[in-house]
This record gives sequence, structure tokens and C-alpha cells, in this order.
Amino acid sequence: DTVVDATMGNGNDTLLLARLAGENGKVYSFDIQEAALINTEKKLREAGVSNIVELICDGHQNIKKYVPQGIRAVMFNLGYLPKGDHSIGTKADTTIEALKRSMELLMDGGIIMMVVYYGGDSSFEEKEAVLEYVKTIDCRNYSVLVCDFANQINCPPIAVCIEKVRK
Ligand code: SAM
Repeated sequence: DTVVDATMGNGNDTLLLARLAGENGKVYSFDIQEAALINTEKKLREAGVSNIVELICDGHQNIKKYVPQGIRAVMFNLGYLPKGDHSIGTKADTTIEALKRSMELLMDGGIIMMVVYYGGDSSFEEKEAVLEYVKTIDCRNYSVLVCDFANQINCPPIAVCIEKVRK
């Protein structure tokens, strides 16, 4: 499969995707911070899967410059780089732009999985904008599921899953 990690960070999700995509698969992974690419490159090399991964130092809102049509999955893990600068996090406008472009690139039956972290240094603006935006997505073309913890404290993450309807 061809898949995308839209928020590379320290590469944990990129590594998972590389293992799942298989040796003939391809993973495109984005981050705006050089430190993310350095950490992820090391992780992939040690796991022996760096050959199927392309690390891209650019914003995920520019996904269409790098990724071909017909991808199986895109993963987003919003917020800031763990152990990094908390002021360099994902932002509402670029996240929503990336979501729109990713939806256009999906194959039928393809999915976008987004985990929304908020509160603390991440504030609430991005979460609120994303949750409002996904309500407006045309249900004839995409199904959207939002999963929220019912009994957790301290702003537990919210999962948003978008599936492109099979025609
Ligand atoms: N999935 C990562 C992992 O396994 O370690 C964690 C991701 S971290 C919560 C979010 C990342 O998104 C940060 O590394 C940040 O630099 C990156 N980011 C922020 N804005 C971005 C953008 N416009 N495009 C791509 N990445 C962005």
C-alpha cells in the first residue's frame, strides 16, 4: 500500500506504517522540523525499513506536491513534537487544508486517521476548528466517525476517522 504519515514527529507512526505497508509499499512522511527527520531516519534505519519511506521536510498542507493519487491511508497525530519545542505545533488552518487535500488523494475505501491532542500548550482552537470542519464533509462521498473518551480527565485525545465511500 501507499500511505502517508502527515505528522512524522519522532517517527513512531512512520515506523508502524512502514511495517504495515510491506516491502513493496511506500510511505511518505511529513514534518516541518529538521529534528523530526533526523530522529525518524535513525529509527527507520535501525529497523531496516528506510528503503520504502520518503521523509519530506515540508508542511502536510503541501501533500499534493509529493504524493500521487490513490493512496490507502493517511495518519495525523496533532500537537507538538514530544520532547521538542511546544510552540511549534500543528495549526487549525494548515491542518484543515491538509485534511481536504488528503481526502482528494484517497482511493475508494481509503481512510484518514487523525488523533487530536488539545489543551495545555496545544490550546483548544485547532480541536474546535477540526471538529466543526468534519461535520461539513459531504456524507455521499466520505463517512466521518469521531471517538471521544467518556470518563477520562485532562483533555483526553479525540480520534477522527474519515473513510472515502466505495462507489
Ligand atoms: N506521530 C509522531 C510520532 O510518532 O512521534 C508525533 C507527531 S507530533 C504530536 C506532531 C508533529 O507535527 C510535530 O513534530 C510537528 O513539528 C509537526 N507539524 C506541525 N505542523 C506541521 C505541518 N504543517 N506539516 C507537517 N508536520 C507538522
